[in-house]
Amino acid sequence: MGKKGNNEPLSRKARRQFMDLIKTDDPEKCWSWNGSFMRGDYPLFYGDGKQQPAVRILYRLYYTNYLKRDWVIRHTCGNNWCMNPNHIYRDTRANASKETQMERRRFTIGERHPQSRLTEKDVLDIRERVANKETTQKALAEEYGVTEAHISKIIKRKTWTHI
Ligand SMILES: [Zn+2]
Repeated sequence: MGKKGNNEPLSRKARRQFMDLIKTDDPEKCWSWNGSFMRGDYPLFYGDGKQQPAVRILYRLYYTNYLKRDWVIRHTCGNNWCMNPNHIYRDTRANASKETQMERRRFTIGERHPQSRLTEKDVLDIRERVANKETTQKALAEEYGVTEAHISKIIKRKTWTHI
């Protein structure tokens, strides 16, 4: 995708195709997309001979046609698939990735109380895989997003003792 082509206005035809793919709903609710998607549930639009992330087009149609390359369009609702223009906002790539890192860190801290996050099936799988020497406690801790100490307790049956 060329730098210049990025901000070329959509043709009238493409614009109509685009709007036809959005299922407008209550302004408060998330709007669904009837077109195709790319990895991570992001709507993808094919129009005027190229494929583009549909949320970027949405932003350009509703807010400003000029979109810098390092601007990312994010959702206030957390649904990547959402096409409600009231649920999107613009951010810089740097800021967005900083926040993602912070969220990840917060998630990791949340895992200090991991008991509720594992299911009985997880616990049984963990015990079985360790018994079969399929993997290490460290790898399991990473895989399930819990501490190694917690994996150790599971294996030694100091927790999840009822199964
Ligand atoms: Zn939404």
